[in-house]
Amino acid sequence: PYATNYQSGAYKADEAKRRGALGVITLVKAAAGDAAWTRMASGNDRTRTLTPGAADTEFSGAINADTAKALGLDLEALTARTASGDFRAFAVPDVKLSVEAAETIDTLRTHNLLAKITGTKRPNETIIYSAHWDHVGVNERAPGEDKVFNGAWDNASGTIGVVEMARQLKAAPAPDRTIVFAHMAAEEMGLLGAYAYVADPVYPLATTVADINIDMLPLSGPTKDVPIFGKGQNSLEDDLQALAEKEGRYVSDDGQPEQGFYYRSDHFPFVRAGVPALMPWHGVDWVNGGREAGLAAWKAKFGADYHKASDEWSADWDLTSAVENLTLLYRLGLDLANGDEWPTWKPTSEFGQVRA
Ligand SMILES: [Zn+2]
Repeated sequence: PYATNYQSGAYKADEAKRRGALGVITLVKAAAGDAAWTRMASGNDRTRTLTPGAADTEFSGAINADTAKALGLDLEALTARTASGDFRAFAVPDVKLSVEAAETIDTLRTHNLLAKITGTKRPNETIIYSAHWDHVGVNERAPGEDKVFNGAWDNASGTIGVVEMARQLKAAPAPDRTIVFAHMAAEEMGLLGAYAYVADPVYPLATTVADINIDMLPLSGPTKDVPIFGKGQNSLEDDLQALAEKEGRYVSDDGQPEQGFYYRSDHFPFVRAGVPALMPWHGVDWVNGGREAGLAAWKAKFGADYHKASDEWSADWDLTSAVENLTLLYRLGLDLANGDEWPTWKPTSEFGQVRA
């Protein structure tokens, strides 16, 4: 079972808003004097960044265990019900709330960059290749001299993957379906560019066949495995597996289910909207050296550079595995673009209902 993000405050706020909530108050299981409560309370006036289409509740806040008790809530019983899966929403009787909330709103303007190859037979059906073009910017509090986070790996490498994909696909005979190349903005701030796209899609989501997302290319020698985020979600992985097999490779999961990676890059807003999506990750089952060497090298690189100022281009990058994976994704997209297949969600996926 994969970890999910449904425990996150943002998801709960989205769902509450969808069901008509004006505001969201989070019950924190900590007493007024606890550090956990102080931390929570101090974050109350932090900046929230929302895209058009995101749930913007009128207010949000938190109460601690002492307040909950005063309201007649039995925290122990509630916790037990949550743990057993028996928790159901209930009204808190005889409680009135008055709220005074002040907010300052800044509008940030940024851009997704889209390009397309128009399909010759079914131009209204689209396959999207996406990659975010932003990174985390400048951090004056970063340790060391270098305060500029260039993000060469995350995600200049992915944007280059999409540009190269466009170049190669443009060189192939024109496809039946339209292929879109999307460079998404503000992924690092919470997938904002992709959420904005999905809220106001340029190409209708109902006729968007799939999204293939590239966030950080693998940098190693050849690998046998092609890990993907969200293994078990949809049939794109079966198409990819068939292509990988021809190269003596195999599709695997990302090996870190506790990270909930499927919920953390630009494919995910498409997924939430019911569009089957797939994101490949970095193989660790090296052809030369096996899994142990591959995993150790990957962990070292990820630990050293991920979201650090040291994420810079280097002449010793080995792009062999990147080219291998991009070649598979090229074939995957081209097959979809020249076929009439609609990838489907697996029966166990929580996203299958949206499009059906
Ligand atoms: Zn990224």
